[in-house]
Amino acid sequence: MPDQHVDLLAIAAHRDDVELTCGGTLVKAVKAGHRVGILDLTQGESGTRGDAATRAGEAERAAKVLGVDVRLNAGLPDAHLQNDEPSRARVVEFIRATRPRVVILPFPVGRHPDHRIASELGRDACYLAGLAKYGTGGVPHRPFKVLYALAYREDPVKPSFVVDISPVFETKMTAIRCYASQFDGAKAAGEIHPTGQDLYELIRVKSAHYGSLIRTAYGEPFFCHETLEVQDVLQLGVQSL
Ligand SMILES: [Zn+2]
Repeated sequence: MPDQHVDLLAIAAHRDDVELTCGGTLVKAVKAGHRVGILDLTQGESGTRGDAATRAGEAERAAKVLGVDVRLNAGLPDAHLQNDEPSRARVVEFIRATRPRVVILPFPVGRHPDHRIASELGRDACYLAGLAKYGTGGVPHRPFKVLYALAYREDPVKPSFVVDISPVFETKMTAIRCYASQFDGAKAAGEIHPTGQDLYELIRVKSAHYGSLIRTAYGEPFFCHETLEVQDVLQLGVQSL
């Protein structure tokens, strides 16, 4: 596998997952000068709408809109994702090829089994990629930080932090609209339950809610297991009262 180093890698089960959950955060990282990549684990061959070839073209166009440096596909079986040895070895190859410092994964709980398994598979692969004697190829590399995209989840989990995506929200929506086969006329998608509203409007409303948590127009929420460090309490944002 050719060297495709990135600073930030978003891993998700399906093409369009990262646009929905952390597309704005990826655009912000690109604009900040970081190298950013996406690893889609499956090709979407089992999706109700569209087919794998259509979704490949849509994913390529969305990647251009987001401005990411690398978009890779692990070719694992859609709707049959497993956290098994061959799948872990495959994802380890991609982590060693991209050597990210930070990895964004789906939240560990999900409506779609692929989302839940992608989360566990991604985390395990991040750890195993750092073991010197694991696998047959690539230089061992363990990402420094693992973040979970929390958008649309209804579990009683408070975000560890929210990224302000207000300046890049329209870019996120443009990237999402690349997936016309999935979303045009849709009322629900992935982890987003239907409310009767148009899906694009629903994404806007949800993003506005997360933004309101940090007193900004639009946001994307994340969870991480570790406690976040603060050096200067006087620099803390988000007004309390
Ligand atoms: Zn999905």
